[in-house]
Amino acid sequence: MALTIHNNLTNRKEEFVPLVPGKVSMYVCGVTVYDDIHMGHARSMIVFDTIARYLRHLGYEVTFATNFTDVDDKILIRAAAEGIDPLELSARYIEEYFKDAESLGIGRADIYPKASESIDDIIAMVRDIIGKGHGYAADDGSVYFSVRSMPDYGKLSNRRIEDLESSGRTEADANKRDPLDFAVWKGAEADGLCIWESPWGCGRPGWHIECSAMIRRHFGDTVDIHGGGNDLIFPHHENEILQSEAVTGKPLANYWIHNGMLQVKGVGNSMEEKMSKSLGNFFRVKDVAERYDSRTIRFYFLNTHYSSPLVYGEDMLAAAQAAVRRLWNNHAELKACMRDGPEEGDDAQGLVDEARTRFAEAMDDDFNTRAAIEALFQLARATNRMMGEHALSRAGAAAAVGLLEEADAVLGILGDADADGGEDIGAVMDILIGLRRELRSRKLYDLTDRIRDELAAAGYALEDTADGVRWKRI
Ligand SMILES: [Zn+2]
Repeated sequence: MALTIHNNLTNRKEEFVPLVPGKVSMYVCGVTVYDDIHMGHARSMIVFDTIARYLRHLGYEVTFATNFTDVDDKILIRAAAEGIDPLELSARYIEEYFKDAESLGIGRADIYPKASESIDDIIAMVRDIIGKGHGYAADDGSVYFSVRSMPDYGKLSNRRIEDLESSGRTEADANKRDPLDFAVWKGAEADGLCIWESPWGCGRPGWHIECSAMIRRHFGDTVDIHGGGNDLIFPHHENEILQSEAVTGKPLANYWIHNGMLQVKGVGNSMEEKMSKSLGNFFRVKDVAERYDSRTIRFYFLNTHYSSPLVYGEDMLAAAQAAVRRLWNNHAELKACMRDGPEEGDDAQGLVDEARTRFAEAMDDDFNTRAAIEALFQLARATNRMMGEHALSRAGAAAAVGLLEEADAVLGILGDADADGGEDIGAVMDILIGLRRELRSRKLYDLTDRIRDELAAAGYALEDTADGVRWKRI
């Protein structure tokens, strides 16, 4: 079976055919580096890391690029507040990004383009946009893209010009010829933020132009796969398409893949909202990684289809930990069976072959990691039953271990069941925290203090927060 991808551009599943046989170029919009990354970023990073791993597993030579937006108004404002150079601030958070990525088991991308290192490419792109009649320099030193100059506007987000006009999302500005237009270069005249010289005066790149310039620089006119969170479809990706296709006349990307948002329960109501820095409802990867290992966090995300929305809750991570641990235990028991199990017995070949086929079919079906994981659980249930009956042979156990580890090269969810218990401490901590709450309500403070102190002595701190008691390793 061939790999199929749900392409957001055509809104249907299509067989994946790369531009160059055997090779895949893949660009994913990265993060704006002005703070630590949160679990919403982690979802996107884990989804595209897993997609890249699967493409490599299929034998493709993958070139994976993900950018750092290290020039941005949020960075400029925060750096000014701290009295430091903007690039010093962004370098600090790029360093933190790599530490956090490691704690999520994310492999290194091949290219990490930075906006600050792409200024020449950006200026060249802006010049070409103007040269081809799709943009204009305005009196304020900015360069705007003429949205109406592109007849197929809105093909990714299925928006029409008329929708935009009535949405109230366009900004009228005396410098723009049309309220629909957006800046590809922002002149410093309006706000004094002069960062780079350009043929149009001092300023900085617009929000969308860096990705167009980076893709052109590293991959040429067209990239096989372009990815990102589905909150980027409009306007960011729509505008990337306008800019790039205005210059090259070719499709910017053949397959558009977007991950669903990670949501959190809205405060004070039952509405779910996107986890984001600006809404202040985010959970830092650093904080979560203190409590859960990368395998559990990856399992939590990959056990849902990448395109579905997911509502975040710490209780779900605890549930994920308990669930994935069953797979780890099966893996450990299979390894023991390889050493100590019966020489003669069932070689489980049929079961392992079936699991391998189901895993491949699931991943080939638009990277359905949830169904792929279920195939591994099915194998685990069957082999557990056989081991319980002493029916599984050493060779059968070895075959099952081989498949689990092969699948794990893609998923990265197999942990060490023999670890010192740190991996499944969450459920026990929840019991202790509940017990302590009960004791406190009965005013048995000597006992609540004793629980806290003895946990501290054992290396765990309890913290009272607005959301209840949390724990962490100390
Ligand atoms: Zn982008």
